[in-house]
Amino acid sequence: MIRDDVIIIGGGHAGVEAAAASARVGARTRLITHKRDTIGIMSCNPAIGGLGRGHLVREIDALDGLMARAIDAAGIQFRLLNRSKGPAVRGPRAQADRQLYRQAIQALLAEQANLEIEEAEVEDLIIDSAGRAAGVKTKDGRDFPCGAVVLTTGTFLRGEIHLGDQRWPAGRRGDLPAIGLAQSLERAGFRLRRLKTGTPPRLDGRSIDYAGLTMQPGDDPPEPFSVLTERIKTPQIACAITHTNEKVHDLIRRRLGESPMFSGQIRGIGVRYCPSIEDKVVRFSDRPRHQIFLEPEGLDDDTVYPNGLSTSLPADLQREIVHAVAGMERARILQPGYAIEYDHIDPRELLPSLETRRLRRLFLAGQINGTTGYEEAAAQGVVAGANAALRVAGGRAFTIDRADGYIGVLIDDLIHQGVSEPYRMFTSRAEYRLTMRADNADLRLTEKGEASGLVAGERSSRMAARKDAIAAAEEMLDRRRMSPSEAARHGLRVRQDGVIRTARELLQLPSIEFSDLIRIWPDLGGLRRDVRHHIEIDARYAGHLQRQLADIRAFRDEECLDLPSGLEFEAISGLSSEVRSRLSESRPATLGAAARLPGMTPAALALLYRYAKRTADP
Ligand code: FAD
Repeated sequence: MIRDDVIIIGGGHAGVEAAAASARVGARTRLITHKRDTIGIMSCNPAIGGLGRGHLVREIDALDGLMARAIDAAGIQFRLLNRSKGPAVRGPRAQADRQLYRQAIQALLAEQANLEIEEAEVEDLIIDSAGRAAGVKTKDGRDFPCGAVVLTTGTFLRGEIHLGDQRWPAGRRGDLPAIGLAQSLERAGFRLRRLKTGTPPRLDGRSIDYAGLTMQPGDDPPEPFSVLTERIKTPQIACAITHTNEKVHDLIRRRLGESPMFSGQIRGIGVRYCPSIEDKVVRFSDRPRHQIFLEPEGLDDDTVYPNGLSTSLPADLQREIVHAVAGMERARILQPGYAIEYDHIDPRELLPSLETRRLRRLFLAGQINGTTGYEEAAAQGVVAGANAALRVAGGRAFTIDRADGYIGVLIDDLIHQGVSEPYRMFTSRAEYRLTMRADNADLRLTEKGEASGLVAGERSSRMAARKDAIAAAEEMLDRRRMSPSEAARHGLRVRQDGVIRTARELLQLPSIEFSDLIRIWPDLGGLRRDVRHHIEIDARYAGHLQRQLADIRAFRDEECLDLPSGLEFEAISGLSSEVRSRLSESRPATLGAAARLPGMTPAALALLYRYAKRTADP
């Protein structure tokens, strides 16, 4: 019998990244999923990136993950969101051609060495005599022994679809749920909880009247996500924007009781920031209308995704609602919207490597950990897959902290705060936004990935070349100097204080752009665009960046204060019972992580620190 190093269960966004990451690190990896054909499928909206999520995609790319390259091959509309705001909060987003995206993911997996794909349903975990995950059992009666398992089953654990008063077991529409696995996780002692998400009806684009609607084009030229993509070759399309109205809201209010969310049929908690239309009508009752983006699902596909119209109301009411919206009066519904409830695992069961504390050599990634979104799932997949491979090889865990990147923020939030609703990434969740920009993800993470074996080859050489180019350009700018009076002669607004400034220092002044420098020193025009962009941002925010770097040093100092792994938090007297129970549930590994728990006060931290020191050296 073949024994794999790592087995990944699930071919969704977490699973494919986990499989590719494990194989990149060098482990013999097997991806077991229900259907080979649905690998890389987008269960809901055909789009990648956005605010906060765009940062995650760039970070996945920096670690040589697949998502950025796949969307570059499949994107049919690229837009940089928040373009008018500061560089820290700009979010790259692209709408995808669903089929092209799936094909791109499958093609990238096909060329990955060390990776086998198996079509099967996993029903149980094999646990060895030491209480560690040691393989999986499939429904067709086969055993697959291995060194570590990564579980990425998304919305499938005891999944149940709701549509009006109808409900049926499903992992997503057209797929069966995973029942056996949920039971085996429960047997192993994991705490399972219920969450919910939903999707809008799909429309036939040929039946939509676009004449009176506002059209929204993408960026020209479209900017790729991956540093390995030279340019976007896929044809680009525009989306249309329409709105709900009072008639729609009245229809919903009159039959609200038939929504499984309001009738009590659904118990799981939904995504607060991506609510259903019935939820929006109730929660924002003063708003006369809500925006709907009509997003084509592909270049050769007439299906349209009405983004903003997620619902689980009865199918006949969905038809009435759709027909009451401008441009959609005669729209044909190809598939009604629906909600899905599923089990997830309390992510406080996890270590920063995404290995579970309860069952060693079992790693979890994706929606099973209480997140929502392809990008959050994929980001966890990279970390879990790499760590499963490193675990088997006896290597050091690959971890990312809150100052390294948004992936670090995501994992730290999950494993310490847990989730009470589906977790979605936003830039506001990060403390060090100015240093963790979407445009410098490679500079922050690629070398870290190289050290763990995740990154090599072309990406490594490109990274080295980019760093050299930035260093050479900085030196070039530092060699060019100018007095205030010379600057004034070139039309630059500089204080006449007699101070000679380098070109880089001139760039720190708010009124001076890189193009002004090129006017004075034309050879600077030969610098690479990405290098110029990087230097311009670093110069513009130099003061803030320095303060943020000092904050990061202080954060890392606290992160260095380890708390012993077996610490009995319940035994610390002087702490409130709420703080004690939070500590016991989250089991923070460092004093810094403890400080971020809700309810922690400086006094409680001091008590904890003294107790930890006493326990460590009695
Ligand atoms: P998935 O993409 O769900 O993949 C799970 C994989 O595991 C599948 O390949 C499945 O076949 C496989 N699998 C499961 N069980 C087994 C088993 N026992 N054996 C073998 N293989 C197994 N996100 C948003 O951000 N906004 C939204 O509005 C939104 N709406 C959604 C609506 C619906 C109806 C659904 C289903 C999802 C929605 N999502 C939404 C969530 C988004 O699809 C997920 O966050 C993302 O796909 C999670 O990725 P994943 O890899 O964790 O799981």
